[in-house]
Amino acid sequence: MTTLHQRHRAVLPDWLALYYAQPLEITHGEGRHVWDADGNRYLDFFGGILTTMTAHALPEVTKAVAEQAGRIIHSSTLYLDRPMVELAERIAALSGIPDARVFFTTSGTEANDAALLLATTYRRSNQILAMRNSYHGRSFSAVSITGNKSWSPTSLSPLQTLYVHGGVRGRGPFAHLSDGEFIAACVADLEDILGQTRGGVAALIAEPVQGVGGFTSPPDGLYAAFREVLDAHGILWISDEVQTGWGRTGDHFWGWQAHAAAGPPDMLTFAKGIGNGMSIGGVVARAEVMNCLDANSISTFGGSPVTMAAGVANLSYLLEHDLQGNARRVGGLLLERLRAIGAGLDHVREVRGRGLMIGVELADPSTGRAAPELASAVLESTREGGLLIGKGGGHDSSVLRIAPPLSLTVAEAEEGASVLERALRTL
Ligand code: PMP
Repeated sequence: MTTLHQRHRAVLPDWLALYYAQPLEITHGEGRHVWDADGNRYLDFFGGILTTMTAHALPEVTKAVAEQAGRIIHSSTLYLDRPMVELAERIAALSGIPDARVFFTTSGTEANDAALLLATTYRRSNQILAMRNSYHGRSFSAVSITGNKSWSPTSLSPLQTLYVHGGVRGRGPFAHLSDGEFIAACVADLEDILGQTRGGVAALIAEPVQGVGGFTSPPDGLYAAFREVLDAHGILWISDEVQTGWGRTGDHFWGWQAHAAAGPPDMLTFAKGIGNGMSIGGVVARAEVMNCLDANSISTFGGSPVTMAAGVANLSYLLEHDLQGNARRVGGLLLERLRAIGAGLDHVREVRGRGLMIGVELADPSTGRAAPELASAVLESTREGGLLIGKGGGHDSSVLRIAPPLSLTVAEAEEGASVLERALRTL
């Protein structure tokens, strides 16, 4: 009998990544749990960043989607769309960007693509600064500003991208420096790169906490220090908040707020879980930047009423239940517990994170090198234990990634930590 996995392999691209030697078919979910086609139940410590910001099958979102789908699913371009205006108003107000305008897309890739179109048009330049080890999507242009080459096929895009140090704190030539020295070294690197360019550079795009790159971030304040240099050259700052927005990092609603002295970015992009699984992405920009395009443009599905209804219901739930505060509290406990577990294990190099975005970096104890095979083994073994986690990192993918829905309870955090502890101890 042909399995779904074999049928998938026969008809879908070879590069469409799948987790696990025997990939999982998820059939339904509730709260922080999902079930597979064989009826096994898993605690979901990764779906929060992929799709499910708040909780699986959240009744408030399901109801909003069903009601809107029962009324009309139309395009939000050419005609007025009440849910789109409402979600845009709420995001603009939350963004911190003065005179903010919002453009909706259907994915993070497309959001970054739109930000690039705006930045390059506004600045009349195809030169972009991006961070080493970054990930910004899979399109022709997004691939060409992605520093993490394990997730970035060759792109012949005409964008000229220059990669800057600073996204990764614990590895690379500046790892041994103090926080202040690290920031100074990264600023010097940025100035050095700019000194080698000719003509203007359009923008710097950066994830406040690198997601695919292994949940790693610079010391707070790096982007404030960068901002001074960028401003001196008129270069725009785009904060890719696809993983860090909506309170995931606990202390802040947006990742850029950890660098608050920088002030709000010129643009931010968002996507992933904001529709709790419905495909929403978008860009927020100052009106002057957003309105720099000199012809009409449309997006047939960006801002579709059904996805916007999900986005409004999801955001309302998240704010009413203070899920950002929950991410801070429960994420803080989980980080502490995982640090205590990691401290006794010589193949755990570092446990780090903010809110419900926690990375456990593994390394080969004898060489200190990245250990992707250990990370794969932990993924298989936590799955056996009823826990789904993710992985990431540089070209070597040896960081375990933990990003549950933001409604995670303390009991669930403890349960997940115990499963992970068993997997790490039996390596
Ligand atoms: N930016 C970041 C920071 C991301 O993590 C991702 C997705 N992993 C994207 C952009 C692209 O989003 P999408 O997969 O929705 O195109």
